[in-house]
Amino acid sequence: MSRGESVVVVGAGLAGLRSATALRERGFTGEITIVGDETHGPYDRPGLSKEVLTGRRSVLDTDLPLPTDLHARWSPGRRAVSLERNRRHLILDDGTTLAYDGLVIATGASARPWPGRLPRSGVHTLRGREDATALRRALVDGGPLLVVGAGLLGSEVASAARTLGLSVTLVGASPRPMERAVGPVVGSVLAGVQRAAGVDLRLGTTVTALLGRSALKGALLSDGTRVSIRTALLALGALPNTDWLRGSGLRLNDGASGGIACDHRGRALEADGRPISDIVALGDVAAPPHPLPHDGSPAHLNLGHWSEAVDHADTVAAALLGHEDPAHEAVPSFWSDQFDLRIRSVGLPMLAERTEIHEHDPVRSRLEATYHRGDRIVGALTVNRTSRLADHRRRIVDAWYREDASR
Ligand SMILES: Cc1cc2nc3c(=O)[nH]c(=O)nc-3n(C[C@H](O)[C@H](O)[C@H](O)COP(=O)(O)OP(=O)(O)OC[C@H]3O[C@@H](n4cnc5c(N)ncnc54)[C@H](O)[C@@H]3O)c2cc1C
Repeated sequence: MSRGESVVVVGAGLAGLRSATALRERGFTGEITIVGDETHGPYDRPGLSKEVLTGRRSVLDTDLPLPTDLHARWSPGRRAVSLERNRRHLILDDGTTLAYDGLVIATGASARPWPGRLPRSGVHTLRGREDATALRRALVDGGPLLVVGAGLLGSEVASAARTLGLSVTLVGASPRPMERAVGPVVGSVLAGVQRAAGVDLRLGTTVTALLGRSALKGALLSDGTRVSIRTALLALGALPNTDWLRGSGLRLNDGASGGIACDHRGRALEADGRPISDIVALGDVAAPPHPLPHDGSPAHLNLGHWSEAVDHADTVAAALLGHEDPAHEAVPSFWSDQFDLRIRSVGLPMLAERTEIHEHDPVRSRLEATYHRGDRIVGALTVNRTSRLADHRRRIVDAWYREDASR
């Protein structure tokens, strides 16, 4: 693509904004059109489950700042419904056709829905601003609250609700909260924190039914108990928004996490695995390869972390413009704030075979852990010890990018 052609960005979230900004920073002077199905501009989702729920921040204060020199054409409230790759056309829900020379797919993810019947009120998901406003209102009205799913989002909402004084039951299928992201050792520590804060933690358990026809009245759990509740949050994970790409021939990632399979430059892949030069994807909708050899085959990972949208923006802009690969040494990261814990992680703890705890001070709520696979460090995590993370990140970069890849 040359400097003067046109780029369409689908998805007006963090990834859409950052990739458009990166195109301009790389000197792209052509037209940029950003299509988003929400009626407002990009905003900060992580704040929704933290400060917005506790009332420390208004939902209106979550807008992401827009660079003044972006000069993009915004198309809010419009959904992309299909892609005609041979004609380089994007079709919107009002029938409009948008032609592109380069396409950025940044459609993010949606909350995984409840598989069965639901009462008409009292059951929430949390993905966007309107969800946060509705859940905040319900929390202010008082509990009891049931949180279904003890991952990052479920754990944060349990924390916010306890901070507001609600009675909270947190149900998770895994034996420990956030176990996939932080492993069993740190997961056990987080379980202790939730219990000490008064959360009724039911682990290794699932919710089998949400009761009530009109208003939510209670829930049945797989251990045979029944809990009385007024409000429930479903935190069952996220599904990448790829439905609209059905029939486009783009390769979707196999496995539970899904997403658009990309190469290391963010170029979407054909069904046969060849990269497509005029289509890139990033953020929660994308599944780029991770840099560690994984059981002998290159694995694509859809992590759903804020840093993925930000770290890949320049890479996809370079790929679309045909610039040289910036080849930065990407290391995934995420953070989470729960009670008085500032949890920060780098690398991929989920790949670890063992965890080493370097410091655990329950009184001062501090923890420092590293994660290992064979003789290689694959991740690190700190609680209220953020300053220790930079060293671990450097070790991870060395282990992933500078050591003999065959080790
Ligand atoms: C409540 C919450 C808390 C979080 N907390 C953390 C945290 O503590 N730490 C962390 O690392 N990450 C966190 N995350 C994840 C982080 O917010 C995401 O990784 C990030 O927002 C991804 O940005 P994105 O632009 O890829 O997707 P999104 O922000 O989802 O943006 C995608 C946009 O595309 C739109 N769209 C979808 N389909 C179409 C279509 N067909 N046509 C047009 N537009 C479309 C969507 O409506 C949306 O506006 C949290 C997420 C949530 C929801």
